[in-house]
Amino acid sequence: MAKKSSTFVYPTCVRHLKPRKDVRLRLFFLCKRCTESWKNEAFSGNAPLSTGEKMEGYCLLCNKLTSVQLQTWFLCDICDRVAKSIGRNHVAEQSILDYWEQTVKPKFPKYEIIQNDKASLRPRRAEDVSGEGPLDFLVKDKNTGKTIFGIENKTGRSSIKEMSQFQLDVSDCDSILHHVNHLHIPAYIIHAQVLELWKPPTMGFEAKGLWFTDMYKMAQNFTGIKMRALEQRGAAFFKRAAFSPIENFLEQLDNGDGTAVIVKQFELHGIPQIYRTN
Ligand SMILES: [Zn+2]
Ligand SMILES: [Zn+2]
Repeated sequence: MAKKSSTFVYPTCVRHLKPRKDVRLRLFFLCKRCTESWKNEAFSGNAPLSTGEKMEGYCLLCNKLTSVQLQTWFLCDICDRVAKSIGRNHVAEQSILDYWEQTVKPKFPKYEIIQNDKASLRPRRAEDVSGEGPLDFLVKDKNTGKTIFGIENKTGRSSIKEMSQFQLDVSDCDSILHHVNHLHIPAYIIHAQVLELWKPPTMGFEAKGLWFTDMYKMAQNFTGIKMRALEQRGAAFFKRAAFSPIENFLEQLDNGDGTAVIVKQFELHGIPQIYRTN
């Protein structure tokens, strides 16, 4: 029988810079630029532990079809999940910006969309407050210079049509409420359906559709809270009727008196309770 070791040390997560029990070797196909950006901006200068052969495929981070290589680092479960979600989130965010440029801007040039929180991988430290990133987009009225509402983006593989209900972590709901309170503006939530593009062994992403709701429709369509068994996190559930196809968004921006519908609602009703715990 092998001698029992009492000094086993788990590998160090290059983003947390701490050994953790769930740290494993993680594999990513990345272009040269994105490899450098993770190494320097998220992993405190730690180079990949190994680098594979050059091949043509999708970079997991920038989603370009280009020359990529298999890169490996030690990461914990959380950091691996965050790292793998960023490329998908970029594609979702870009599809919202494209929609705005092509459809909203020609009709409502006075409204400007500002990307507030471009998804990126940053070093993670124990003292960080989790789930408290700012709203993804802010919309400004160029005539008055005032920020009139925010937009939070949620991304998934499903279309709203295929969902039985829409679910949002309670911590995400709290984060949205925190920011609308702080900025004193209402907010929309846009769900982006993003699907994988397979080019084995690599994978890219493609946005397939956008749906929107706002904090008032969420409050009206809230159905309950459930605990997610494995993760010990509460999720709030909403009827999918809260959402409309993005084609209906334009009419939201003109209440008939030159203001947006949601701005009027905010004046009348303030900030709604988007979920309840009892
Ligand atoms: Zn790249
Ligand atoms: Zn980590």
